Amino acid sequence: MSEETLIYTNQRLPELLKLIKKNHKHADLKLIKSAYFFAEEAHRGAVRKSGEPYIAHPMAAALTLAEMGLDATTIAAGLLHDVPEDTHKTLQDIEQQFGSEIASLVEGVTKVGKLKYRGIERYMENLCRMFVAMAKDIRVILIRFADRVHNLETLNALPPEKRHRIALESLEIYAQIANRLGMGQMKGKLEDLAFPYVYPKEYQWLIKKVVPEFVEKREFIDRFLAYLNDAMKKHGVKIISIDGRTKYLYSLYKKLLHNNRDLNKIYDLIAIRIIVDNVAQCYEALGVVHEVCKPLKGRIKDYIAQPKPNGYQSLHTTVFSPPQFAKDEIYGQIVEIQIRTQQMHIAAEYGIAAHWRYKGTRLADILHDSKLHWTQNLANLQEQIKGGQILLDTLKIDFLQNYIFVFTPRGDVIELPEDATPIDFAYEIHSDLGNQCTGAKINDQIANLTTTLKNGDVVEIFSTPSRKGPNPDWLSVVKTQHARDHIRSALNKKRNTFLQNNTTD
Ligand code: MN
Repeated sequence: MSEETLIYTNQRLPELLKLIKKNHKHADLKLIKSAYFFAEEAHRGAVRKSGEPYIAHPMAAALTLAEMGLDATTIAAGLLHDVPEDTHKTLQDIEQQFGSEIASLVEGVTKVGKLKYRGIERYMENLCRMFVAMAKDIRVILIRFADRVHNLETLNALPPEKRHRIALESLEIYAQIANRLGMGQMKGKLEDLAFPYVYPKEYQWLIKKVVPEFVEKREFIDRFLAYLNDAMKKHGVKIISIDGRTKYLYSLYKKLLHNNRDLNKIYDLIAIRIIVDNVAQCYEALGVVHEVCKPLKGRIKDYIAQPKPNGYQSLHTTVFSPPQFAKDEIYGQIVEIQIRTQQMHIAAEYGIAAHWRYKGTRLADILHDSKLHWTQNLANLQEQIKGGQILLDTLKIDFLQNYIFVFTPRGDVIELPEDATPIDFAYEIHSDLGNQCTGAKINDQIANLTTTLKNGDVVEIFSTPSRKGPNPDWLSVVKTQHARDHIRSALNKKRNTFLQNNTTD
């Protein structure tokens, strides 16, 4: 390794320290420095396939973590993440020098990193293990994301078949998990870095098609921004910022596939994003937008009142720009506008990672935060609330509990509330399986249907089609609203049939 490259990497240390300090005024910068020098010394002499000194890699990962607003402990673990695997220093050395919290994060990262994506049949299994690791400590997953971003950035240095495997794994597993954790920016980054390696032809096609449109639309958007900015001032709505955001390429590609590859149907190729201080101002700003531009029917979405399942909040509207901006038929007529508060914006970009900015490092607080809707279950509940089918007091049951992840024998992940039973599990899979279940195996051991399930359990359900519906006692045992609803309706049906059969005219 040349002296020069080492100096370059060392120069990034002040940049890292500055970035950490921006989000955490009282961060332990000494810890970061000593983790850096520890890693630098351990990796010294080693070179990445790209020719860079090895330390450039953990440094890049640490910078990504700092950008996400993570705390010094997580960033130190990020700097050390490849030390036990690739150097003469061991996990014990790390524990001795940096304590058990950092050592256990590094250990988690090393463990998860050993999982290799080996084609579609291994997909679920890997996904499951990642979920289990996540349930233990989400920071392990965040470090893994940061690690993966830099690996994708330097993917060209690897042989083609390895490139494809890593890129596909990033697209199919990492980006999916980032999305579930509400990490919009990470999801977009992972997908756009992996896209050209997984679908090279489609990527080339998209670039050719879309780049000229980007250029053209950009020019229009800039004029439109100034117009909206003036309108906000005139109406006395204070905004923090207004700008045009370009859609991520892979997400654009997927949207095009749903729209017959017709770019004219994509209204958010460049969307306008308005950031304000509070929720009331979001609605005020929306009012101003609709006063100066005609909204498209059916395109106003209030994700503030009804957040997406992963917690996303914003107001979306799609408008016709005023006539003076529509310089021809194709460009600049229809634009999507997104309005949100600063806090909603950070939450949308960083998802679960954003909580470290506001709450410090107590993982328990973050997991207990009832504002994190990251289960599909909740999406269903929200649908029911909208439809008025559910009372607010029944909502608390699923909502405020912690979740556990258990697996089917095939390896599918099922999310259940804490203390859920095999009965809940059976109903989660299918109502018939719930109604007909007679017994269970947990981790290959015969178990009672009322046993409390634990994180990571593999659950198998035995069922008999001849079973005449659920046991009424189950109502006091089950933990999910879903199971309770199905048991009630099956019992009602049974009673009605009974009454019908025993009524004489
Ligand atoms: Mn690494």
